[in-house]
Amino acid sequence: MTRLILALSLLALTMPQVANAHGGGCRKSSPPGQCCHMDNSTGVVHCH
Ligand SMILES: [Zn+2]
Repeated sequence: MTRLILALSLLALTMPQVANAHGGGCRKSSPPGQCCHMDNSTGVVHCH
């Protein structure tokens, strides 16, 4: 049981950043506190 929890925790930690769902990182021109990047699926730059 404990091993299962440990495995799940490790999985969560190593998951590619779910928060930054689109990946790609922030553009250098992003305003402070925001992260602007190209959404590869739509080809549109947006910030959040
Ligand atoms: Zn985005």
